[in-house]
Amino acid sequence: LFVTFEGIDGSGKSTQARLLAEALQAEGQEVILTREPGGSAGAEEIRALVLQGDKDRWSAETELLLFTAARRDHLERVINPATERGATVICDRFADSTRMYQGLSRGDLRTKVDTLHDLMIGREPDLTILVDMPPEVGLSRALGRQGAEERFESMGVELQQKMRDGFLALAAEFPDRFRVVNGDQPIEAVRADIRAHYDEARS
Ligand code: C5P
Repeated sequence: LFVTFEGIDGSGKSTQARLLAEALQAEGQEVILTREPGGSAGAEEIRALVLQGDKDRWSAETELLLFTAARRDHLERVINPATERGATVICDRFADSTRMYQGLSRGDLRTKVDTLHDLMIGREPDLTILVDMPPEVGLSRALGRQGAEERFESMGVELQQKMRDGFLALAAEFPDRFRVVNGDQPIEAVRADIRAHYDEARS
């Protein structure tokens, strides 16, 4: 199974991705826990190019190409080989983040995002967990985090609200694979909700 986690900054998706991965590993499954942007050596180099430094260094279009290049490398070298040998891949962000961040946050590039996706990626997750929460909650968590990359964490509440609404709209657009979980609950409750969705997807 190829499972992705999506949500705004500070939604807790990375913690939840790790909890699910650990639980499945403890049950004896081979699990690859990975993330985007990044997830392979080459893609991590591209991540550093995009996320560090001046936020106007790349145009929106160039940024989209860089994220797509990173995803292609990640897919070829990590995700596809893993699922081919029967491992479960759990990925913190994937193409839906590009539909939101590159597609929506810096202008309306969604058509270009979709065209590039079809041309160069062409794969969707089996299950996407959207960890949903109000942006005020997410933002206060993200800002308190150590090592948060300035480039993106400086998004204001308004933009985060736009991203949240966008993610919810995306969930409605792809109802077969998206499951929305309320992230504004204790970690254990969020974990249990996600596990139930995973079990349902597996069966
Ligand atoms: O998931 P994580 O918080 O590590 O993502 C790092 C940052 O990269 C986030 O703040 C997110 O806003 C940004 N991002 C992006 N476009 C993507 C994926 C992530 O702008 N496709």
